[in-house]
Parts: sequence; structure tokens; C-alpha cells
Amino acid sequence: MSSDPLKAAKTCELHVHIGGCYTVDDLIHLAGPHADQIDWSIYIESYQDAFDIQPEPAAWIRRAASGDEAAIRSIHEHYVYTEADGADFARFMAKFSLALATLRHHYQIDSYDDCIARAVDGHRQQGIDYVEFRAMAPCGIENPERFIDFHHQNARVIAAACQPGFTARYVPSIPRWQPLDAYVIVRQWLTDEPDLASSVVGFDFCHFEEGHPPRTTRDFFRRFHEDEAALDGPQLEILYHVGEIYFDKSLESAMRWCHEAAELGAKRLGHCTALGLDPTVAVARQQNAHEVELVTERIDQIDYDLRLRAELEDAGVKVDVRALTSEREDLRSLAPEASVRNTYDESRLEQIRRRQDFVLAKLSQCNAVIESCPSSNMRLGSVPGAADHPVHRFLDSDVALVLGADDPGIFASPLAAEIDWVASTTSLTTQQLARRLGDPRRYACGAGA
Ligand SMILES: [Zn+2]
Repeated sequence: MSSDPLKAAKTCELHVHIGGCYTVDDLIHLAGPHADQIDWSIYIESYQDAFDIQPEPAAWIRRAASGDEAAIRSIHEHYVYTEADGADFARFMAKFSLALATLRHHYQIDSYDDCIARAVDGHRQQGIDYVEFRAMAPCGIENPERFIDFHHQNARVIAAACQPGFTARYVPSIPRWQPLDAYVIVRQWLTDEPDLASSVVGFDFCHFEEGHPPRTTRDFFRRFHEDEAALDGPQLEILYHVGEIYFDKSLESAMRWCHEAAELGAKRLGHCTALGLDPTVAVARQQNAHEVELVTERIDQIDYDLRLRAELEDAGVKVDVRALTSEREDLRSLAPEASVRNTYDESRLEQIRRRQDFVLAKLSQCNAVIESCPSSNMRLGSVPGAADHPVHRFLDSDVALVLGADDPGIFASPLAAEIDWVASTTSLTTQQLARRLGDPRRYACGAGA
């Protein structure tokens, strides 16, 4: 790989979740000795619900651990998430539950450290020399001790895995439904554990975004910025998945969410498909896609358009102040849980393209970084074809951009394969792509690489 112009991009992973790192081989290794003790019910039940098939994980794992090729193929088929599974998060979670059941068992028998170490080592063996791992605790903060214990184990093992030439960092994920309360607990843990402070480099928002508008994190961001200004320690960063799966709202609102997350102070934005997928393609992905949204979203959109009117108009976006003000008055008389309908004609789609350019330019201005994850978007993000992938639009723009594998194990696609996929589908030459991407380490949290 030494002469590969894309080496810098292939050796620095900035968007990966620990739970998504486990390959079929990893699962056979980790679950093999425990096949009959692991409680597989979460996997069996969710798989049956999602696929209408009853899987037999204990038998597959037991036989696969003794080298049975047919059993190994069964695990591949019922675990690796491919485009054939459809862009269905419930199906993804069902397949993912095979890893989850395995990890939970190790957590219960006090050998979860081995699982974390395997995920970290898998990256080192790929030749990656800088990686930031994220993880969402399997429980919420109603069980604060377990919540912190989970993050503590991850941070401790990741810190211990660092060696000359290999740096790993940890970014705990904060539940979107309780951002401030969870943050306070995690921040207190960091204060209590100064030895881990250099390993924990930020906080992440992930999992379902629908139903969790960025405005619900305002109090969190306010407190976070206050703490960062007051504390004399390494600066932490916010990583924020947004604009990834957003069928429940208009395309304008989905783009606004990306912009709002950056305005609030998120450093890197995960996916932002809404900013890169052509709107004609976006609305054709599903029946009634983006046609309905909550009244509250529409009011937020009107407020946004009025607030940024001058800049939007400079970008060629029409803002009819009188019509919007009148519409807002009408909407305020409706119940917040009421919905409004959207229809998309050619002129609206063209306006949406201008808004995409506008938000991409705004992200560039505030130095926000988009993290694009090729396979993840193709398989989960409802991107219909390689040519439609938002990464191409991002490459054409000036936005700061990094590529990540997201869940390299369950997608069976390590970081280098993700970079090669972009190289093989972009119109740029490999040299041009390498220059456009540069070294992603400059976007690491705290530029700590
Ligand atoms: Zn992710």
C-alpha cells in the first residue's frame, strides 16, 4: 500500500462503531466457546419478526467453530447486511443482534474486554494507524452505573491498545432522547477519571434520528460549550449523525437539520445524505417519501427561512416573506402533532438543489466536516445506485470530507474497500481523489492524530 496515493485515507478511520466491527470470523471466535450459553433470544426474535425466518444461531456457531463450511455460510447469510436486505433499519438491527447477543454474554461473564480488544486489533491489522471508536451503551442512564461502566471499559481497553504507530481514541455515544442528562453523567465520569481524559476525545449522537430534531439538543450544546470554555483540559468535539434516514420530513427540513447541527457546534456530521442525494432521486425512493411532516417542523423551517432570508436569496433560493408569515400564523393554530403535506414539482426540486449548495457552503464556512460512509448509505440510507451516492456531490463541493466504514464487520467492508469503492465510482482520477481528500487526520478530534 506504500505507493497508494489513497494511503492516508485508508489508514485513518474517523467513523466507526465498536458494535459494527465484528466480522463473521470474529463472531465465530468470540461466540464459539459459548454457543450454548449465550442467550440468543434477542437475535432469534428480532430476526423472525424482520425476515419471517427462524434462525439457529447456537447450532451455526457451534458447527462453524469446528470448521463446518455450510454453517459459516449460514452465519454470513444471516448476519452480513447487504443491499439485498433492503434499506430497513429493523432488518439491520435484527442481523446486528447476532453480535449484540454475543457482546452481552461476554459483558455478563466479565470478558467484554476481549471483544473490545478484538475490534481494536482488527483495525491495527488492517494497517489503520489512527481510529476513533464510538459506542452506544446497551442501557440508558436509568442505570447510570452500568451506563458508565460500559463506557469505562471501552475507554480503558482502547487506551491500553495504543502503541507506537497505532493510536485509538474513544467517543461515547449520547442517547438522543436524554442528551443533557446523559452528558452530565459522562462529563462527571471524565472528571473523576483524569487518566482516561486523553483517550476520550468527544461525544457522538447516533441511532434513530427521526423524532429527535437538533433543537432538542440545544441545552446540551449550551452546557457543553460552557464546560469546554471553563475546563482546562483537552478540547472535546461533538460528532453528530444527521440527514441519514429522514423520510418523516420534507427535504428542506432534512437539510436544515444538517445545518442546525453544525450551527449548534457539531464538528463532524455523519452521513448528511440529505445534502448530497439529488432531490429527484430522494423523493422517488419510497412511496410518499418526504410528503408528510409535523407542523412543528414546518414552523421551524419557516423560522429558518425568515432568519436566513438574505443569504438564501443570495444563493438563489426564493423566500416569500408575506406568504411564509401568513402560513406560519395558520400553522400555529394547529395542534403540534398535526401534519402538513408536501408535494414536489420541478421548480421546488430545483430550489432544493440550491439549498443543498447553500448548506454545503455554510458547512464549509464554519469548518464542519461531513463523514460519508459508502456501503452504509448504499445499504441502509436508501441510496439507490452508485452514481447517486451523495459522496460524489460532496467531492464536487468545497465541504470538508472524510470517508468512514461505519460498521465494517456487519457490512463486510473494511475502510480500504470503502475508499476503493469511491475511487472506482467517482469521475476523479485516483490522484485527484487523493488530493481532494488529503489526510483525514487533520479532522481528527482535537486534531489528535
Ligand atoms: Zn455511524
